[in-house]
Amino acid sequence: MNPEYQRLFDLAQRQRDRPPCGRYAPSPSGPLHLGNARTAMLAWLQARLNGGRFIMRMEDLDRARVRPGSARQIVDDLRWIGLDWDEGPDVGGGTGPYEQSARDGIYAMALSRLCNSRRLFACYCSRKDIRQAASAPHGRDGPIYPGTCRERGSDDDTQRGRSAALRYRVSAGQIRVEDVVAGPIVQDLSRDVGDFVVRRADGVFAYQLAVVVDDALMGVTDVVRGVDLCESTPRQVALFRALNLPTPRYWHVSLMVDEEGKRMSKRDGSASVMEFRARGGKPAKLVGQFAASLGLCPPDTAVSVQELLRTHDLSSFTHALRAAD
Ligand code: GLU
Repeated sequence: MNPEYQRLFDLAQRQRDRPPCGRYAPSPSGPLHLGNARTAMLAWLQARLNGGRFIMRMEDLDRARVRPGSARQIVDDLRWIGLDWDEGPDVGGGTGPYEQSARDGIYAMALSRLCNSRRLFACYCSRKDIRQAASAPHGRDGPIYPGTCRERGSDDDTQRGRSAALRYRVSAGQIRVEDVVAGPIVQDLSRDVGDFVVRRADGVFAYQLAVVVDDALMGVTDVVRGVDLCESTPRQVALFRALNLPTPRYWHVSLMVDEEGKRMSKRDGSASVMEFRARGGKPAKLVGQFAASLGLCPPDTAVSVQELLRTHDLSSFTHALRAAD
């Protein structure tokens, strides 16, 4: 195994007392919509109010979903809002590379560690197989894996020639995460999720594995992200523990809603930062809108992210996030 990756893992495992560090990890699958820009601003504010480093990481593992030019546009939009970062795809840094597509060797090393601890098994089930399994109840995030391949011995060659996904064998028992904003997140993975995929049958590493390895190896202490990722967090905590890596604190923040109170998402073509800019919108107006949505400033205020830094501290900021939850 690559000695450099070995060194990175060993370093991360030893660093329990790490200086504060936040990150924003967009998927370059289209224009940055306003809700995502708001989450990025909150992640940045949290890190800076905490006196920490801030990292930008492109989550471009799923090549089929990547849109050409999107990563560059996202970086440009975030800079236009006024955010800056100490490490990232456009500025480099000591814990890169900062595109997940360039980190396959690092994820492979994490997989081999899990494999050594007999936590992984090959799974030949298609989505359809899983849906059709008579006993597959529905979990928090789709059907619960019915365990079809879990007990298949390695000498079972009935599936020879088919490519296999790798699943992580979950343990029974509750995982409890104390989220700074959302409060306790409690799941029993064996009941609520089932054994989950860490590498897909087409060889692509799963988000759940990549995000854990990256957050740990980049020294991230605080993960600020949308509340829609709450459900993924216990899976990630299980992987941090299995890899003996330090678990960050989580801040799951409410998502921005449109005028009708509906959650904004890329799919329904919600307004993007690019469109806002094209209509002649100014950064201070957008930042003011984001800040006002959390009561960090009165409605219709123009404000820069630097002014928000000057006028708040970590405790008033945390309070505002909790009140908006
Ligand atoms: N890349 C994910 C997204 O854009 C975010 C992952 C995370 O923050 O953990 O939804």
